[in-house]
Amino acid sequence: MHRIGEFEAKIRGVLERLPKEAEVTRVEYEGPRIAIYAKKPEVLLEQSYLITDIVSHLRKRVVVRSDPSVRMSEPEAEKIIKELIPPEAEVESIVFDPTIGEVYIEAKKPGMVIGKNGMLLQEIVKRTRWRAKVFRAPSYPSNAIRQIRYQHLSETKERERILRTVGERIFRPLVIEHRGIRLVALGGSQQVGRSAFLVDTGESRILLDCGVNPGTTDPREAFPRLDLDELDLSELDAVVITHAHLDHCGFLPFLYKYGYDGPVYCSEPTLSLMVLLQQDYISVLNREGYRPPYDQRDIRSEILHAIPLRYGAVTDIAPDVRLTLHNAGHIIGSAIVHLHIGDGLHNIVYTGDFKFAKTTLLDPAVSTFPRAETLIMEATYGGQEDVMPPRKEVEEKVAHLINETIKEGGKVLLPVLAVGRAQELLVIINEYMRRGEIAECPVYIDGMISEVNAIHTAYPEYLQREIRDLILHQDLNPFQSEFFEQVTHPSKRPEIAEGGPCIIMATSGMLEGGPAVEYLRYLAHNPKNRLMFSCFQIAGTRGRSILNSIKLGRVPEVELIGENGRVELVQVKMKVDMIDGLSGHSDRKQLINYIKRMSPKPSRIIICHGEKGKCLGLASSIQHMFRAPVWVPDVTEAIKLA
Ligand SMILES: [Zn+2]
Repeated sequence: MHRIGEFEAKIRGVLERLPKEAEVTRVEYEGPRIAIYAKKPEVLLEQSYLITDIVSHLRKRVVVRSDPSVRMSEPEAEKIIKELIPPEAEVESIVFDPTIGEVYIEAKKPGMVIGKNGMLLQEIVKRTRWRAKVFRAPSYPSNAIRQIRYQHLSETKERERILRTVGERIFRPLVIEHRGIRLVALGGSQQVGRSAFLVDTGESRILLDCGVNPGTTDPREAFPRLDLDELDLSELDAVVITHAHLDHCGFLPFLYKYGYDGPVYCSEPTLSLMVLLQQDYISVLNREGYRPPYDQRDIRSEILHAIPLRYGAVTDIAPDVRLTLHNAGHIIGSAIVHLHIGDGLHNIVYTGDFKFAKTTLLDPAVSTFPRAETLIMEATYGGQEDVMPPRKEVEEKVAHLINETIKEGGKVLLPVLAVGRAQELLVIINEYMRRGEIAECPVYIDGMISEVNAIHTAYPEYLQREIRDLILHQDLNPFQSEFFEQVTHPSKRPEIAEGGPCIIMATSGMLEGGPAVEYLRYLAHNPKNRLMFSCFQIAGTRGRSILNSIKLGRVPEVELIGENGRVELVQVKMKVDMIDGLSGHSDRKQLINYIKRMSPKPSRIIICHGEKGKCLGLASSIQHMFRAPVWVPDVTEAIKLA
């Protein structure tokens, strides 16, 4: 922690230590980093111990930037970069970001752009005074990623202002010594949906997640309780988003609509996916005649305020708070949040949604932290009965049910969340079909799924090794299998519904909207067809009501909009199955295992993101087993942590 003037004095000290020949011109806040501008940045970059020394002295992240006055003009620099990089690297695009003096090079073989020990990158800096960042050119491009890059590059002045203001706030002198740390549940407590927690350290305020509740349209229930006195948007220091599912990020653009001007931290895949899902969310609401709580403009503002972080990077987000994101194993880019408050005074681990087991796509959630006093853990599958069968068994069940349906001449409808379950299922279906264990038939992919596949392809480093290797060998990319066919236009849907046996994978996962609902209308009447859910069905959704009727032994009836635009009551006579074991959530055993394995052991556990009964049941078991205090706050309740 630093006091008034102390930090500025430290920076001055740093400047004095730097070699004169680097010609440092200024030092600036750049979001959570300190940027050192120099006329000869290569002097600092070549002697990497100089930077290591500054980082350990300031205990802040530091970047070296070239002074704009020495940067080569963009066309000239582009020419030199093209000369330096060997043609085998297959460069696809070169884009300049004058805000920070970086040039983004997208290539099929990024390793060849970097060169041995980064030699080529250093040569580029030396010759052009632009710092190069290298990306792998995706084998099929994602529109969301393009939009975000374009936004950051086309509004450089605004982005510059935001990063500077964010930096000034982070590195402001501490005013208050210590007033106690409080956690306020704004949503997602004793329920699934509208996740949001406020962490108030007395000095700063951090919002963890900002989701919507897809199970209701009642505004008092659908959104987090931002109306509480505890929350003043102008006093909020940062928002941290664990992952892209709408029940964790769907309400975030609303903050920007109502004047929040601060940063949002998340992983890079989360940013791309969240923008995509929020855009879809408002277009679904519009189509169904509801007024969305925000519009495109607010999503654009969110993009400009986004600061993507890599797993493991320790980042200052307030004068007394350091944030680190760790893999949560739930969906691509999902993060467990670690907050280090007040120089070791208190440490919070917030799991978001997490999977404490390996899945087809991801490694298990991280369970080791430098310190941890409070654990905030989800409990979606925290009930006594929530024990998932082994994965292999589940995969075989999926294969068996598909084969049975196809043999009978039926069609399989898989309503999926566009992110997560869709990709798991695609990889499984592709593998089983390749091995001849699922009968070959067309697999239609409808809705946003293929755009999400493109985002997976762009960030293979976030996936577990086997899948990463397949993607890097582009001809084996499981998301571009020859068995899959993208439905490019809604007019194709009736054809598919009348055609031969097939598998249809479509959004949304809880039948709340999207093409899955249209397919349901076509397929529901035929008992040969099969409806297979693979994700948790939130109370109040159409998917949940179908499952409830099946449990009671009734033929489910659902209201759907018919061809003529009128509401029809449709009987669901097709077979219905719930495939539990593919979930990206931990089951009860894995939740308890997580606490057992977590290092260090937390001294307090808070249970959230689960139906009330499940949360309370799990809490009492945990209390019994671990003899640690366990809390299950209700929405609007506050807990004093330290
Ligand atoms: Zn989730």
